[in-house]
Amino acid sequence: MSLETIDKEYVLNTYARNYVNFKKGVNATLYSDEGKDYIDFTSGIGVVSCGHGNERIANAICNQVKNITHISNLYAIEPQAMLAQKIAQLSGYDVAMFFANSGAEANEGAIKIARKYGKTKFDNKKYKVITLEHSFHGRTITTVKATGQGDMHSENFTPYPDGFSYNTSINDVYNSIDDETVAVMIELVQGEGGVQPLPKEEVQKLAKHLKENNILLIIDEVQTGAFRTGEFLASNLYDIKPDIITMAKGVGSGVPIGVVMTTHKDILTPGDHGSTFGGNYLSTASALEACTILDELKNNGSLDETMIYFEEKLKSFYEAHKDLFTDMVGLGLMRGLRVKDNDTLMNIIKQSFNCGVLVLKAGKNTLRFLPPLTITKVETDEGFKRLEKAVENI
Ligand SMILES: *Cc1c(COP(=O)(O)O)cnc(C)c1O
Repeated sequence: MSLETIDKEYVLNTYARNYVNFKKGVNATLYSDEGKDYIDFTSGIGVVSCGHGNERIANAICNQVKNITHISNLYAIEPQAMLAQKIAQLSGYDVAMFFANSGAEANEGAIKIARKYGKTKFDNKKYKVITLEHSFHGRTITTVKATGQGDMHSENFTPYPDGFSYNTSINDVYNSIDDETVAVMIELVQGEGGVQPLPKEEVQKLAKHLKENNILLIIDEVQTGAFRTGEFLASNLYDIKPDIITMAKGVGSGVPIGVVMTTHKDILTPGDHGSTFGGNYLSTASALEACTILDELKNNGSLDETMIYFEEKLKSFYEAHKDLFTDMVGLGLMRGLRVKDNDTLMNIIKQSFNCGVLVLKAGKNTLRFLPPLTITKVETDEGFKRLEKAVENI
């Protein structure tokens, strides 16, 4: 039986999939079983931050799992403690953290911390969380409700938890705050919603207002974290001091891991939260190596160089095709081109795949680029050459 037949028979039909069978990956290049190669401008939706088949990540994982893979959180876990220390140092914040297995789970943790903070410090009064329109916070019942996209709140899954509302812009958030508001949760660059960075001054003004009013600022850095925007956290770039930050996608360079960190280290106490798998030897060994590699690339200047090069290439591509694209958006290696309409966007993604370059969609009209942070100039050049070919016939 073919891969397609088995997949369709035994895997639930939740994704519109391409039936290509990737057998090998080298940095930002993937090879199919038919011997065709693809430049990967997606890194598995911002996950494989250090590239496919990364030797150092592979060694870190192998060395760990030949010894211990998992023992549970009933015992201290050395790579978990080391990773927590590394992340705290890289963030520049005075934080402690909890490890989960995904972005949605990290956000669940953030919401639990915020709710307990609201209940215990404010006489059971504060529990509401405000988010923004076009945000994305996950697919669990709670995080999908926190997600500011009405069409994701399907009636098929009701009832959703109370206490979530969303606003069209930061400037509207002020009017929605009431005595029961415990937190505002935002992405600094809305990823799934369309690679839309929020204006820095507006974010800083909001952060100040929230601090003055004892309302927590939660930054969802599931997509922007782990150097995706050029700094370890987009919060560093925005020069704000959030109360709670979540990370996931790029942290483990391919291994599932979620992180929720907070400056309010005393809120959670034993029994409040937990995870069987979260922060085990496997995921934290991989993430510790990934953070070490990316920190080195940042410090020796090559991460910035990669980002500048990719941006230049994207800009030339954008300017050569103003008939298709209306805007260039994003930060660092989280980039997007607004496409004039959805049909054209879907067509570009299809043609790109046929021409051997993988790209993503975001929101309704954005062509999204999330390459590995290790992508070489040669791979970048080749990817854009293939994109040129892909749009030739559109
Ligand atoms: C991907 C994403 C999530 C959800 O992460 P999962 O690992 O799929 O649960 C949450 N927030 C943001 C900003 C994301 O980009």
